Amino acid sequence: MSAACIFCKIVKGDIPSFKLFESDKVLAFLDINPLSKGHALVIPKFHGEKLTDIPDDSLAEILPVVKKLVKATGAENYNVLQNNGRIAHQEVDHVHFHMIPKPNSEEGMGISWPQQ
Ligand code: 5GP
Repeated sequence: MSAACIFCKIVKGDIPSFKLFESDKVLAFLDINPLSKGHALVIPKFHGEKLTDIPDDSLAEILPVVKKLVKATGAENYNVLQNNGRIAHQEVDHVHFHMIPKPNSEEGMGISWPQQ
């Protein structure tokens, strides 16, 4: 845990979030500034700035959660992103995977998660 870290505060419950999944090692919640409806973040509870700082056992639990969230949205088109370092557009210095659903068709998103 890092006292100054926004995502550690979300893990502790000091900052509210719309939680989608939680286990001992992993937390998933809606992005506060979504790029699409259902844009979620999946994070290790362990505080580490970059991918290379995270223990393998925590990392191993993250992709199955990303997959679970994709399936829950029903999205057939989606992006999974993970940024490391300012030049690579990382803004929050706690490892996170973005799961960004895209519309199944030009008619728009067919998913049912409520918005924040
Ligand atoms: P990055 O650019 O670091 O890969 O993405 C950081 C993401 O964290 C952004 O999409 C931003 O909207 C999200 N974010 C930043 N602060 C908060 C917060 O307090 N709550 C939630 N739910 N998301 C946040």
